[in-house]
Amino acid sequence: MASATARIIDGKAIAQTIRDELAAEVRSLAESCGKAPGLAVVIVGNRKDSQTYVAMKRKACAEVGIRSFNVDLPEDVSEAGVIQKVQELNSNPEVHGILVQLPLPKHINEENVLSEIIIQKDVDGFHPLNIGKLAMKGRDPLFLPCTPKGCLELLLRSGISIKGKRAVVVGRSNIVGLPMALLLLKEDATVTVVHSRTADPERIIREADIVIAAAGQAMMIKGDWIKPGAAVIDVGTNAVNDPSRKSGYRLVGDVDFDEAVKVAGWLTPVPGGVGPMTVAMLLKNTVEGAKRQLTQ
Ligand code: NDP
Repeated sequence: MASATARIIDGKAIAQTIRDELAAEVRSLAESCGKAPGLAVVIVGNRKDSQTYVAMKRKACAEVGIRSFNVDLPEDVSEAGVIQKVQELNSNPEVHGILVQLPLPKHINEENVLSEIIIQKDVDGFHPLNIGKLAMKGRDPLFLPCTPKGCLELLLRSGISIKGKRAVVVGRSNIVGLPMALLLLKEDATVTVVHSRTADPERIIREADIVIAAAGQAMMIKGDWIKPGAAVIDVGTNAVNDPSRKSGYRLVGDVDFDEAVKVAGWLTPVPGGVGPMTVAMLLKNTVEGAKRQLTQ
């Protein structure tokens, strides 16, 4: 049996380093202008998973010295009610970033709500203008979406070169796959996007020096789909049954870790890879937004 070869990219440790860097930036911002960055986190309804994510984000803010503004709205709030809240936050000078936790209840159109956030405070980077600028040559978005930005940081901080490399992004969602592909293109990779209608995905993925897996399909990418030495970033977070666990389930990625670790050059674990980076990038976007707004 081949022995493990991949270097494991420790997203948790890299995210902690970034949080420490941000805490220092927040302290120096307080010294220079006496203000703290502020992030408003808006949550609608009682979804348990959303509440867990929001609590985690608010706690992470406190740890680096970002003020969080909590907006908790009931499940039956109207779309106009959410928009009105967003508009209030847009004009609040203490708030430098606005995050609306998704998904919103079915009766609210997410696009209508997200496009109300002014781009200067769009720390999730989902505003069509930010995505549009990401897609255009010579334009720079104010914010990059957190998960793709986190994947890029993992590559850069692991010393993996991107320029001229073949990158395959598996998935084309608005929040992960598509902006990830655009970001890698900006970094001068040659990018292919694989999606659910792609014929022969194995063959395409096998050609990649860099694989970003964001399909939401448990352990879809097998060891023999990976080019030896490739850098593999696994965004997928899938719950699979595991009777040996107290919870009855465990989280796995889109990549078959045990197989991939024998072939890849670099590999992120799930959990402990991309997840912690997504939160760290939200904090980074908030600090960057605050610096822009406070020093203008
Ligand atoms: P979506 O469901 O919105 O998108 C999934 C994408 O994968 C779609 O573009 C879909 O193609 C494609 N896809 C689905 N099945 C296949 C397949 N068999 N082969 C190739 N492509 C396929 O998911 P998200 O982008 O929101 O999230 C993707 C994964 O990343 C999920 O597991 C999610 O939990 C995780 N995630 C993790 C985060 C983190 O911080 N760690 C943050 C965000 C997401 P098509 O467009 O044709 O339907």
